[in-house]
Order: sequence, then C-alpha cells, then structure tokens
Amino acid sequence: MTFTESLTAHFPDAIPANQFVSGSQRTLARVGVHRGSALPMIATCRDELAFALTAELQRAWGGAFNMAGLAGLFTLGRTGVIAARGHAPLIEGRRTFLVFGLAHIGVDEDGELGQVQRPGVPGKSHTCGALLAVTDELRGDDVRVSDYPYLDPQDPEQSRLRDRIAPRVPAGGADVLTVTRIARELIDQDTASVIELLRADSVPADVAVFTGIHIHGPRGAEYVDPGIAIFDRAGGDAEKLSLLD
Ligand SMILES: [Zn+2]
Repeated sequence: MTFTESLTAHFPDAIPANQFVSGSQRTLARVGVHRGSALPMIATCRDELAFALTAELQRAWGGAFNMAGLAGLFTLGRTGVIAARGHAPLIEGRRTFLVFGLAHIGVDEDGELGQVQRPGVPGKSHTCGALLAVTDELRGDDVRVSDYPYLDPQDPEQSRLRDRIAPRVPAGGADVLTVTRIARELIDQDTASVIELLRADSVPADVAVFTGIHIHGPRGAEYVDPGIAIFDRAGGDAEKLSLLD
C-alpha cells in the first residue's frame, strides 16, 4: 500500500495541513474573527513534528497559549485555562478564544500507520510515540486497568493518558489508529470543559474550536483529518464552521 492509498483508506476527509490553517482564517473571517482579535490556545503533541503545525497556526493567528501535552491532550488544567482567560484581547466588552487540539500519527511511504521518517534519524521512527506506547501496553494479556495509578509523579502525562484511554479500548487491545481516534475523542470532550472555564467569568467569551488528527506523511507531507469545527458564541448557539469553502 502506498502512503496515498493508506491516507484515502483511513482518513478519507483529510485535507492538507496548510488548508486547515488557511481554512481556519477564512471561516473565522466570516464571523468577524481576525488575527489580533482573538487568543489562540493550541494543543499538539510535544513531538517536534507535531509542533510544525503549531508554528503554522501561530504564524496565522499570533502567539498562542500552550495547552500541549503528550499526544495533544490538554494538560494545562483548570489553572492554565483560567490564566489564559485573562490574556485575550478585550474588544467591545467580549473576548474571543481559538482552541486548537490535535492528536497525531505518522503514515510512512508503505502506508504503515504510526511510522515516520525523521531527517537524520536512521530507519523508521514511531509517531505518536506516546500513543504507540499505550497501544503496546494495552495489548498485553495481564493488563489490569484498576491497578494502574491515576497519576505517576515521574510520568504524569503518560500515566494520565493511559488511564483515560484504557477504559475505551476493547479487551485484547486495539490498533494504533483506534487509539489515536480515542485520543481525538478525549480532546473533543475536553474542549467542552475548556469552554465552560473560559465562560466562568464576567466577560462574555466567544470560543472557536478546531480538533482533528494531524498526519505526517513521507517527505514532509502534512495533512489534517478534521474533527470539531465550531464557533460557539456566548449567549448564542454553536455554529458549525467549514474549513473547505
Ligand atoms: Zn506524539
């Protein structure tokens, strides 16, 4: 299988990463949100490959509040969100936030999921390493979720990641694609709590949310399989946004 065949089979809705970025600009311009009028808050994995998208989003939207943890899950906690709340420009008595949260996965030139080639690194390397570690662990026969500590102080992000993913994985384990989709679902779910915290304030907060799975292909090809794309206006309904037109 080639990279393109694998991309089409597993992520039929994926778009080039630059279209994800420019699409966010175009679709938000229609609801009156422009660079400088909103605070971007971004969560991509700590992996330098994932950070390339963060850099592009910052080029488009300006310096972002960093929400990132391993696999792209939000790890900043309540205190982090409350801190960010005060950093958005105040415009006509309102604040606007752009929440971006993306899990990620490599797809190599043979179409294999979870693999990527990094410049200067011999052979293939794993992406997302954190999600592959969870995938491997949950394949073991002797996994007993309840025995696992909720938070390992020496490995806080990974232990929490495993703790949250494990209950969603069927007995016997799942492949890396399923685990990556679960990570994206957790990010989707967490955006609701972020919105709630941004709203727990006297200043009305309008929040755009974009989630997805960032895909690293061969020779620097970057795609995004989009998830949630909404603009949630304080006191109004959440409006669906289109990244494509
Ligand atoms: Zn990762």
